[in-house]
Amino acid sequence: MQKSSFTTISSLGEFKLIEKLTKDIQLNHISTHKGIGDDAAVLKQSTQTEQLISSDMLVEGIHFDTTYTPLKHLGYKSMVVNISDLCAMNGTATHALVNIGVSNKYSVEHMQELYEGLKLACRNYNIDLIGGDTTSSPAGLVISISVLGSCDKQKITYRRGAKPNDILLVSGDLGGAYLGLQILEREKEVFNKNTTTQPVLDKYKYILSRQLKPEARVDVIKTFNELEIVPSSMIDISDGLSSDLKHICSQSKNGVKIFENKIPISKEAKIVSDEFKINPIICALHGGEDYELLFTVSQKDFNKIKNNKNFTPIGHITSGQDMELVTESENTINLTEEGWDSFIKQKRSI
Ligand code: ADP
Ligand code: MG
Repeated sequence: MQKSSFTTISSLGEFKLIEKLTKDIQLNHISTHKGIGDDAAVLKQSTQTEQLISSDMLVEGIHFDTTYTPLKHLGYKSMVVNISDLCAMNGTATHALVNIGVSNKYSVEHMQELYEGLKLACRNYNIDLIGGDTTSSPAGLVISISVLGSCDKQKITYRRGAKPNDILLVSGDLGGAYLGLQILEREKEVFNKNTTTQPVLDKYKYILSRQLKPEARVDVIKTFNELEIVPSSMIDISDGLSSDLKHICSQSKNGVKIFENKIPISKEAKIVSDEFKINPIICALHGGEDYELLFTVSQKDFNKIKNNKNFTPIGHITSGQDMELVTESENTINLTEEGWDSFIKQKRSI
């Protein structure tokens, strides 16, 4: 093949690459209820329950920077981002496998620190760490985790179930994790210019914890159970509201209308976005890594949670195909997905 006929991966991006590589994959086992395409694969476990499996990989230099990420936090976060994917199916994680590729710049003590975080997350979320694989890597650290769990068959929630007029809600607040990263990057730059300075990070506690020590919203799944709500669709916000909402819309074959003035943003995130002179809404829309749950419910289920402070209704599903954003000045504009993509980092519109 001529070199000129090669396609760069960055010209496709992550999602189109996955689609290209996997679109002809056939599923041959009737026990496979859902393969590629959601937050987790779904396999038949029993007549009552489904088994859930999901993997996530974190690569040094792409997903984390060890100059400002303590290894214990990194271990904790690596486990949490996987657990979050099972929450996004309305399920519970129970087991994990941990694969690490590690270069010789790391010591045994470093790896023990990483495992302190992994084990703490396992304790906090009641996960049994049951295996994995360890190998050397030519450069840096790679952490790939698979989680297993389960979900009651009646409660399983896919990305594909959103119906016109369903209400779109999000847990917690958005944009904080991205702004936390901006603080860490800024302080790294300051430190690199003058290694005698010590970063002052106290006033950024909340958004730094959003970046360095996110939690999976297992409490939200518990609330759904208690209130007997089954969302019609759900995804966790890993890449950014705009990108993750796009998955719900395209898989549900519907559109959405969201309202700028409804998007929940913390006080701290607003203050810091002012410091950086960026619009906090842009951070909330495209920033990613908040690991909140984005879900839709029928009008009937909405009545059961509309007064719950953990959730904010931000819009509704429409019968069109577009994602629309109603701005504070009441203009309706098209919302495009511009969240995090590890192949085209520079495409982020922030
Ligand atoms: P999430 O952001 O929720 O972790 P991803 O966007 O990483 O989900 O993945 C979307 C879907 O594509 C998932 O079903 C995942 O299992 C699948 N997937 C991702 N990478 C690959 C791959 N290399 N081969 C097969 N399936 C993949
Ligand atoms: Mg996910």
